[in-house]
Amino acid sequence: MRRREFLAALAALPARALADSILVHEHVLVDFIGADKITTGRYDAGEVFRAAKPKLEEVAALGCRRLQECTPNFLGRDPALLKRLSEAVGIDIWTNTGLYGARNHVFLPEYAKRETADQLARRWIEEWRKGVDGVKPRFIKIGVNRAPLHELDRKLIRAAALCSRETGLTIASHTGDGGAALEQVEVVVEAKVAASRFVWVHAQSEKDHAIHEKVARLGTWVEFDGISPRSKEWHVECVRFMAGKGLLSRTLISQDAGWYHVGEPGGGNYRGYGYVYTDFLPALEENWRGQLMRENPAQAFGKG
Ligand SMILES: [Zn+2]
Repeated sequence: MRRREFLAALAALPARALADSILVHEHVLVDFIGADKITTGRYDAGEVFRAAKPKLEEVAALGCRRLQECTPNFLGRDPALLKRLSEAVGIDIWTNTGLYGARNHVFLPEYAKRETADQLARRWIEEWRKGVDGVKPRFIKIGVNRAPLHELDRKLIRAAALCSRETGLTIASHTGDGGAALEQVEVVVEAKVAASRFVWVHAQSEKDHAIHEKVARLGTWVEFDGISPRSKEWHVECVRFMAGKGLLSRTLISQDAGWYHVGEPGGGNYRGYGYVYTDFLPALEENWRGQLMRENPAQAFGKG
């Protein structure tokens, strides 16, 4: 694109847009039925497509170029659906590999209990190599419960570290609390993976800023997601705290918004992805916005 065209395209964006931005943690579809009952037959992909498309178009118009879909396998991950949406809307939608142990392991398939960390890592590396429904997972998403880490959760983070070591993919881990974050970083580093390949998902649930600082200083990413009108004040405080400590360069933000709720009439309440642009970023210093929505996500997960 020539510079003049580029500037015209920029000018055409609505107020509050942030061109070229990345949402690191959102959802298009989630099914909380449990690993023993889940099937793609539980929803109509056409209906989900129709529900999700306008929400994605809204955020594309706000300058989003990539949305990372964080629904793990056995919780409704559907790469074929994401691919269709991506093509229809014109933004990258990334899917993931990994398994989710949070909520006391009800979303883990039986094999995850039997197999070793190494065997689980092999499965995820295979998904990365061959793709899932023709789509290559671009990050690892796992979930663990609170500290002290259950043996199954330790296995998941260990498998994620082994997978990351081989593929270079970044690990985003739904984490129960700050203690669980610290334990996971230990496992990651022990496996000779850089701490910067680890993202502490849901760091906003930890109320002790000293732990945010401690984990960030280990070189990881601290992700304050779940941004919504209800949580705005706390999220602003978290980001300001990190900036005050010189740790904005280790901070990620996102909304954990969406999604089509399988099993609810019409997919239930589908929260859009625009709030971070229209309301949250304007509450922060202007020169932080690009770092939070462009530089940091690209550094944490890759440029794509
Ligand atoms: Zn999520």
